[in-house]
Formats: sequence, C-alpha cells, structure tokens
Amino acid sequence: MNEEINKLVALQELDSEISGFDRNVRDRKQELADREQSIADKEESIAQLKEKITSLEQQKREAKAEHDDAQTRIKERQNKMMQVQTSREHQALLKEIEDSKRIIKEKEEQLLLLSEQLKINKGNIDELQNLCKGEKKLLTETNTKVEKEVKKLLSKRDGIEGKREQLSSDLRPNILKRYNLILKKRGGAGIVKIISGVCQGCFMTVPPQQFNEIRKGDKLHICPTCNRMLYFKEEQEETCDA
Ligand SMILES: [Zn+2]
Repeated sequence: MNEEINKLVALQELDSEISGFDRNVRDRKQELADREQSIADKEESIAQLKEKITSLEQQKREAKAEHDDAQTRIKERQNKMMQVQTSREHQALLKEIEDSKRIIKEKEEQLLLLSEQLKINKGNIDELQNLCKGEKKLLTETNTKVEKEVKKLLSKRDGIEGKREQLSSDLRPNILKRYNLILKKRGGAGIVKIISGVCQGCFMTVPPQQFNEIRKGDKLHICPTCNRMLYFKEEQEETCDA
C-alpha cells in the first residue's frame, strides 16, 4: 500500500474512534434525558391526580350537603305530621319523607363510591411520589457519574483529535479535503476496505478491472457507487488469484 493510503487508513481509524466517543457521550446524555423525562411524566401524572382529587372532594362535599338536607327535611316533615288535618296533607308529607329517604340512600352510595375513588387516587399519588423520589435520587447519582465519564471521554477524544491534526498535516490538502468531505457525507467512513471486490461501505461490487488496480495499492481509488476511498489489505482474504 502506498504511504498516502496508509495514512488515510490511520486517519480513518482515528475518526472512527472519535465518532465512537461522540456516540458514547451522546448515549450517556440521552440516558440522563430519558431519566429526566420519566420523572417529568410522573410529575405530570401526579398533578393530574391532584386535580382529580380536588374535583372528587368537591363532589363529596356536595353529596354530603344534599344528604344532610334530606335528613333535615325528614325531621321537619315528621314534625309537621303531628299538625296535619287531612289525609291528603298526610299523604303529601309521607311522599316527601319517602323521597328524602331515597335521596339519603342514593347519596350514601355516592359518598361510599367517592371515598373509594379518593382512596385509590391518593394511593396512586403516593406510589408515583415514591417512584419519583427514587428516580430523582438515582438521577442525581447518574448525573455525577455521567459528568465524570463524559469529562474522561472528552479528554481522551482531545488526545485523538491532536493525533488527527498531526496526521492530517502529513496529507496532501486536496486528498485530505476529499477524505473529509466523504467522511462527513457518508456517515463517518471516508476510506473503507474492499474485500473480494466488494466495497465495505456500500457493499456493491466494483468492476474486476478496478479491483485488480486497487489490489496493487499504488494509487487511491474511489468506489464507483458510494464515492468512498477504497483500500485493499492482503491479509484480509485468501488469495483468489490462481
Ligand atoms: Zn462503495
């Protein structure tokens, strides 16, 4: 392989390492973002449950008031009963008492149901608050850990970036420019291996004549499909030439 191809391959190795660090840093930060989101989602659910509880408590107060009103009404009607003269008046009072008794029964059932719902919702809040507490604690710990890890990763990355600059200054500017352009356009792979005539960047076969040329390793070749630079390394495959 000629010297320039060798250097490009070395440069690619550094670039792959750098993008590995970038991916790592991104993943770690994503992990934090996911944890924060999970806490925010739970806090949102807690807020909604609290609103629900406020509304249930309001309904409970209303039901209780109607229940008490009905009780008062019964007492009043029972007192009136002593004074009525006609059977018609008596019947009317009895009906009012019956209606009030029915309302009391309805309201008692409603109050029981509302109390159950309140209990369930309060239980859910407790559970979510507990989870939130645990997750927040874990987030703080993870934050510190990730901060340290990212710092370490970035410092290692800086070292490699330094090596990269050094190596870059050894390459002809037009070659470096082309390599950098492909690197950017083709997902971090500027120069790739060719194995058995197949470009390892796009997995398309190059024409046999070109493959033979690439195997000689004396000139830089470009994949006709993906435009990545190609190199051949003898030890990668068994000699297929007879
Ligand atoms: Zn290709």
